[in-house]
Amino acid sequence: MSRNDRFEETKDDLLSRGYSRRQLGRIVGVFGVAAAAASVGRPAWASGGVPDPAPSAKVRIGANECWTGPLAPGQAAAAAIIASGNRYSPHDERGDFIKAVMQVEGVPYDHVAPWPGSSDPLSRAVVTFCSPTKGLVTADPTFELAGRTAKWLGAPVNAVPLTAAYTHDVKAMLAANPNAGLYYICTPNNPTGTITPIADIEWLVANKPAGSMVLVDEAYTHFAGVPTASYMATAGKDVIVMRTFSKIFGMAGMRMGYVMARPDIIAKMMRYDGGMQSGALPLPSLACATASLTALDLIAARRKEMQEARGLALEHLKKRGMAVVPTNANMFMIDWKTKQAGAMQAAFRTQSVEIGRSWPIWPTISRVTVGSMDEMKAFCEAFDKVWA
Ligand code: PLP
Repeated sequence: MSRNDRFEETKDDLLSRGYSRRQLGRIVGVFGVAAAAASVGRPAWASGGVPDPAPSAKVRIGANECWTGPLAPGQAAAAAIIASGNRYSPHDERGDFIKAVMQVEGVPYDHVAPWPGSSDPLSRAVVTFCSPTKGLVTADPTFELAGRTAKWLGAPVNAVPLTAAYTHDVKAMLAANPNAGLYYICTPNNPTGTITPIADIEWLVANKPAGSMVLVDEAYTHFAGVPTASYMATAGKDVIVMRTFSKIFGMAGMRMGYVMARPDIIAKMMRYDGGMQSGALPLPSLACATASLTALDLIAARRKEMQEARGLALEHLKKRGMAVVPTNANMFMIDWKTKQAGAMQAAFRTQSVEIGRSWPIWPTISRVTVGSMDEMKAFCEAFDKVWA
């Protein structure tokens, strides 16, 4: 059963048990969001009962994970805190984490809320600000979780194609629904790795309808090293900035993320579970994230390592005459033009290389995650075999 079918089935079940749509909005906050978050970020076959081929591949460059584990100071901090795991909070680990965010982002304490990853707050933002009368405006292609959650809620969804430069077309997004509840901007965008200029985001924030929110998903921002939208959250705007430790920090399986927003926005997002999800986080993940966030030199070194590995792969593809979408993150899109992306993914699997998927709007284009230098060399070798 597909993820969408499962969402539909759960919704029908709740409605048939006498819940109103309004109550359904509350229920999804407690159960649905967690379920959605648990299944999203995992490739479609991971939730479809089909064995996941990625773990058996020698080279895993399909799921936008980092090629290596958490930064050394994060690993040490996580290991050290395990001995104190008998306490819910041996010291004030949540507070320490927020102070680390304040240090690197310059946002006030009450403008930060940690969460186990960013899928959960992303779904919650949709549940909080969208409804059957307040739609979601998103891009196409982009990370689909917001759109799926909105569809599940019965909220209208407008998916607006990217511009010719692969940025979010903010003017077309506003025109698509001038009265939406939430405008979702993913920058750098998944799957294109392209950045939407901060001036375009400012324009959307200045021109959107009163009461609606602009959600800026910055999951890949450290790979791009570009200015963040967090100053808008601090300036009292209707902006939610979302971060995750699943990418450059190499912590996808440890589940840490956070949002930066006005305190009243955070309070609305937390009302579904009394703050449990944001209040109680696993200590090793909190400790690891806190120690990683301030390791600025190590973050920059990792970004450089990714850029070098990406450069090697893109140069190889260019020499072979392949069309690649320009990228600023740890992923790139190859246009096979004459072949379907699914067939190419299967061809790479024969070489034990797991590349990424495609998006319905671009059926001949595959997303490839940038792995280590060795992994990208293996990708180039596999490419020459499957494309020969
Ligand atoms: N946002 C974007 C743009 C993503 O690509 C992902 C995962 O791939 C997420 C959010 C969710 O990640 P996580 O829940 O691991 O933080």
